[in-house]
Amino acid sequence: MHKTGFYTHPDCRRHDMGQGHPECPERLDAIEDRMLASRLLDVVERREAPLASTETLELAHDRMHVAGIRGLADELREQEDAGGMDHLHIDPDTALNRHTWNAVLRAAGAAMAATDAVMAGELENAFCAVRPPGHHACRSRSMGFCFFNNVAVAARYALERHGLQRVAVVDFDVHHGNGTEDILSGDERVLMVGIFQHPFYPYSGADAKAKNMLNVPVPAFTRGPAIREIVDTLWMPRLEEFRPEMIFISAGFDAHREDDLGQLGLVEADYAWITRRISEVAHRHAKGRIVSCLEGGYNLDALGRSVEAHVRALADV
Ligand SMILES: [Zn+2]
Repeated sequence: MHKTGFYTHPDCRRHDMGQGHPECPERLDAIEDRMLASRLLDVVERREAPLASTETLELAHDRMHVAGIRGLADELREQEDAGGMDHLHIDPDTALNRHTWNAVLRAAGAAMAATDAVMAGELENAFCAVRPPGHHACRSRSMGFCFFNNVAVAARYALERHGLQRVAVVDFDVHHGNGTEDILSGDERVLMVGIFQHPFYPYSGADAKAKNMLNVPVPAFTRGPAIREIVDTLWMPRLEEFRPEMIFISAGFDAHREDDLGQLGLVEADYAWITRRISEVAHRHAKGRIVSCLEGGYNLDALGRSVEAHVRALADV
């Protein structure tokens, strides 16, 4: 049995927000290339991400919002077939193309399928190499490269469909996971811990919205040792006390020193260290159960190396 699953799908590559956009299909190529070159693909169990049902998206999103995005996707396809535009912007940074709808269903579908496999004991943990990312997607709003919140959907799915009582969400993306906070704040079955650059997009998170949110804003140019100290002194005691039965990770790698979308100073060894710390909590309380989903990470080379370090730590190789 392989310990670690690797979920992805070609549909996630077909979603494209236009030339020069940092959240580009090549991100998934960079991850696959690195996983292949480092022989990590031999260690993980590769699985195809299924399409999520719209009903499961509604575990975390307003029904009208889900229907609204679907309507835009349909409208765009009709427009394009009639010779019109091939992109539709919902904000200056976030756009649909004709493949976006399937990509969003695969991205959320990966997180839920990984949850099923981990809960069934087929895998101990899993990484979902999917896009679009999700942690800026709010209950009734898509923004910041994100349409639906893959991690929040899967966390709710673990609670509602698998009957778990406590799940943790860990977010180490350089940006505050405002969407996840919007959806899960006040839900006492969830503890969310996050570190993010502040002040910085989306300019939220400095004041925690609810007791179940542990937000740690850090200034630009904070480096690995300071972040590790925060993990040990702030995250770990709360996670230990909460005793999660499963842990979801919003795995953004844009806090990397070489990533131009943020100004934090993490390196691959920091991602490996943070992942091992999360894994220790998972082993003490959650039978090792972790589902990690790709969020940011825009320097393709640094992204590939960071995901390798993260997956290596999950697979314990
Ligand atoms: Zn980010």
